Amino acid sequence: MNLLTNQQAAETIDGVYNDLEARLMQNIAKHLSDWKQTIDSDRWLIQKLAEIGKLNEENIKIIAEMSGLSQTAAERMLNEMAEAALNNMEPGFAQLARRGLIGEIVEVSKSKNVKQVMGHLQKQAKDALNLTNTTMLHKAQEAFKNLVQTTVSEAIEIMNHNTSSAVTGAEARGQALRKTIKAFNDKGITGFVDKRGRNWTPEAYVNMCMRTTAGSVANEVQTARCKDMGVNLIQIDAHAGARPKCAKDQGKIFDLNDGSGYTEDARGRKIQYYPWKSSSYGEPDGLLGINCGHHKYPFIPGVNIQRYFPTDDLDANNRLYRQTQVQRALERDVRKQKRECMLFDELGDNDAFKEASVKLKTKESNLKDYVDKHKHLHRRKDREQVVGFDKRISTEAVGKAQKHYKEWAKSIGAESGPKTLAGYYDLKYNNSKESRLYKGYVKSVNDGRISPLIKYDRYVETYNQAREELVGIKTKDGRKIEDITIHLTERIIGTHEWMAPNSSKALKKRLDHKGASVENVKDALQNPEEIAEVKKRKNPHTGMEEESVLYYGKNAIVSFNITTGTIIQTEGR
Ligand SMILES: [Zn+2]
Repeated sequence: MNLLTNQQAAETIDGVYNDLEARLMQNIAKHLSDWKQTIDSDRWLIQKLAEIGKLNEENIKIIAEMSGLSQTAAERMLNEMAEAALNNMEPGFAQLARRGLIGEIVEVSKSKNVKQVMGHLQKQAKDALNLTNTTMLHKAQEAFKNLVQTTVSEAIEIMNHNTSSAVTGAEARGQALRKTIKAFNDKGITGFVDKRGRNWTPEAYVNMCMRTTAGSVANEVQTARCKDMGVNLIQIDAHAGARPKCAKDQGKIFDLNDGSGYTEDARGRKIQYYPWKSSSYGEPDGLLGINCGHHKYPFIPGVNIQRYFPTDDLDANNRLYRQTQVQRALERDVRKQKRECMLFDELGDNDAFKEASVKLKTKESNLKDYVDKHKHLHRRKDREQVVGFDKRISTEAVGKAQKHYKEWAKSIGAESGPKTLAGYYDLKYNNSKESRLYKGYVKSVNDGRISPLIKYDRYVETYNQAREELVGIKTKDGRKIEDITIHLTERIIGTHEWMAPNSSKALKKRLDHKGASVENVKDALQNPEEIAEVKKRKNPHTGMEEESVLYYGKNAIVSFNITTGTIIQTEGR
């Protein structure tokens, strides 16, 4: 068993808890959706606190519904893991039985040892889930109380600071909820509080419990099968680079009945065996623990036994595991943001909903980009869903985000860029020349080096014209122009023509770049009045030493990277 398999097994159960958490939060938001009532906040607070009993009853119902689902999922998961482990081992026992080295085979379905082990693991899983349910019920009530109280004190604060204009209690509560709902969404509903007082999300806690339980299934049922067959000695394989706790145990023979003594191998050599409890088995970083690469197999005195255990490609497996963990974190961001949309929708706050929708599109595109760039990953739409974030909310969220994108594109003069938000993200995350040009424009506008009034289409046109006329020509001293930088575009356009005459001195100094036409740049390269001395500098991106030179033309100064054959920038003169 390895990290990835255990994680995948645990995910079938922790997903139920994501849904449960979202449903409890939705129910809490439902109870707050009457914030618009024309009563003052003190009365609203009393009203809300009086609803706690009802809220709890509803929450118990929700938990009961979901609890059945999670228990069944856990049971199924553990049975499947046990079956896989047993299938791995049975052929070996069959062979031993044929050779008369062990007695008759006990059928798995009749094995008391397997039953006992599985019963114990099922109970362990069930107890963990029940504890989470109880904690969540209690924590949901606490979260509701806290949310109502902070909302009301925020609302009172807002009213006290607005003595000049009249703010109603409802308006103040609406404003307060923007802040308190976000904090509520950030925290979610706690699933477990550990000994050090730390709050675990239901997903994280259930995942941890299920991973641990899943991780011990294989070893426990395999031990049970050895006992069934009367095999008490087991051997641990050995490989280079084992972890410290494994290194001390590997290659040894252990007695499952915790005895110690001597046995013999196929060549009749005496070898020592040790009590199983003296090994590091059972510790997370110990033998057969989390991400251990070792296997145990039955040892029969005087016999060499073929091993039936597959050797996993641990490195590839671990790499994929790490990538999956990043994907899970990005999915968590998406879900959290969807939950925020859903909560504001439940409250009927349109502006806050719009803001949350715009953020959601960014988070979804981060996830899409990561999965696209890693070939072994696939989107897991089921792990991006949030209960209560239905088709209607989703459509509205897309619409709001789309509208916001259009307003933004207009504000920076990039209406001629991608027409849709999806198109924008496509462009943003690829590495084409078009993408770099677009990002170059957006950055120049954001940094104030280019006015949005220049517009993106003119920027593209200028770049294309410069490329067409400059690439391929030769300088007076015989250097060939291979390429131009994107930065050159804004230097050709210059900053003079749009700089406000009353700008501050500092801004004027920063923006004091006279443009230079493509013709002037060409002329400077082909008929310079002067060519400066070649300079060397280290490229900060590649660390390579590069050479550059300045050409002084009649109307423009041009700097040129000799090493790459690229025109860097220009300045009118
Ligand atoms: Zn190991």
